[in-house]
Amino acid sequence: MSKAYLGIGTNIGDKKANIDKTIDLLDNHPQVKVTKVSSYYETEPVGFTEQDWFQNIAVEVETGLEPLDLLTLCNQIEKDLGRKRIIRWGPRIIDVDILTYENFTSGTEKLTVPHPRMHERAFVMVPLYEIIQDLEIHGRPIKEILDTLEGEEIRKLDN
Ligand code: ADP
Ligand code: MG
Repeated sequence: MSKAYLGIGTNIGDKKANIDKTIDLLDNHPQVKVTKVSSYYETEPVGFTEQDWFQNIAVEVETGLEPLDLLTLCNQIEKDLGRKRIIRWGPRIIDVDILTYENFTSGTEKLTVPHPRMHERAFVMVPLYEIIQDLEIHGRPIKEILDTLEGEEIRKLDN
């Protein structure tokens, strides 16, 4: 079994329901167990700002799936929830990204791990740090990366 961290985000419809459904779909897979779930965070859109705020979380999974098969599952869940790809970084029902997968690294367009933009996004790093404090990303401690972040707004929700 391998440990992976996923980032999940949504800004269309019932955001909490979209996230909850995604957690269920991940956990229902016979080779995936969701072992940690962060708080839910309300976050300011980045890149394309004329859109609704997001909700973001991070989860830890234990999985027997290889990285590419885990990516296929993430993409399938996005499809199942009805995601359509229109604007890059635009509104989405659900986005499921592989942030890290053990010490695995990959640099292809199809799968880049660790996720190439995670270290500059508070909406990824803040929930991730909540569930894992001793992670290293390309050899850099997560806390050190987190301390360099500023800017976009992110608020922990009570649910
Ligand atoms: P973003 O998550 O950056 O907003 P998208 O979700 O629209 O962008 O991008 C999806 C594409 O990114 C997928 O086709 C997938 O193959 C590719 N991709 C590359 N690396 C990863 C990763 N670590 N996690 C998820 N998707 C990835
Ligand atoms: Mg994505």
